[in-house]
Amino acid sequence: MAEQDLMPAAFLGHGNPMNALAVNRYTAAWRSLGDSVPRPRAILVISAHWYINASAVTVMPRPRTIHDFYGFPPELFAVDYPAPGLPELAEEVSDAVHPTWVGADVDSWGIDHGTWSVLLHAFPDASIPVVQLSINAEKPLDYHLELGARLAALRRRGVLVIGSGNVVHNLSAMSWELADDGYAWARRFSDQSRERMLTAPTEFAALDGHPDFPAAVPTPDHFIPALYFAGLAGADPDPKLDVLVDGYAYGSLSMTAYTLGATCPATSGGDGVPQPPADLPPDASNI
Ligand code: ZN
Repeated sequence: MAEQDLMPAAFLGHGNPMNALAVNRYTAAWRSLGDSVPRPRAILVISAHWYINASAVTVMPRPRTIHDFYGFPPELFAVDYPAPGLPELAEEVSDAVHPTWVGADVDSWGIDHGTWSVLLHAFPDASIPVVQLSINAEKPLDYHLELGARLAALRRRGVLVIGSGNVVHNLSAMSWELADDGYAWARRFSDQSRERMLTAPTEFAALDGHPDFPAAVPTPDHFIPALYFAGLAGADPDPKLDVLVDGYAYGSLSMTAYTLGATCPATSGGDGVPQPPADLPPDASNI
């Protein structure tokens, strides 16, 4: 890809980790993203599941696959995503976000399920280097929006930046009866956030004033990856924003995914028959 070309970016609502092994309209959309973008030099993922008290990037040459959840079947713990790392990307990330300081993680993290559950579909051969950027839990929402905007420089260097979370994510409100549906408050907040993302992404952090924010975002970990994407969109002088796929799971998760600068063909799940997400074990946690 030419130097002046901008690599697309994406935010993916990952939902249930079992989506890693499922075929449904969400996984088909993720696959479509992978098929549509120019081959990235590296993939930088901001995952909801690396939520710590610092901003850091993984620098190991062979990041391990992390199974950071409980109560799921053995086949999910057997998943391996053996993508290489790209240690030199740490310096490029540091330069891009300067003067914000970003540390180098040598051995504490790797590739968590917020990352591999979507990349297994988007880039199934695991041949493209994957680097994760942690979410600094001590920082306000605006910090993440601004950091996302600074990461825009990486789009000119062949890096595909992906936020992986869920804009609406309330585990304690999940309902097994609403496998493929959303509560009214989840729909209201998701509708508003979609409108905001598509029309005024630089104001995405102000969604914390929405009356349904406390129910939709009881903790910010899954919301923040969307802020990085909104920051990237806001920094793009001619943002071509699209909803890649939309929907709800278990009442209290929104599965909305966005793309920036990508043209993904319309998709359908599996053999053309939309399928709901795989069942979620009743004692599952940390999704
Ligand atoms: Zn999650």
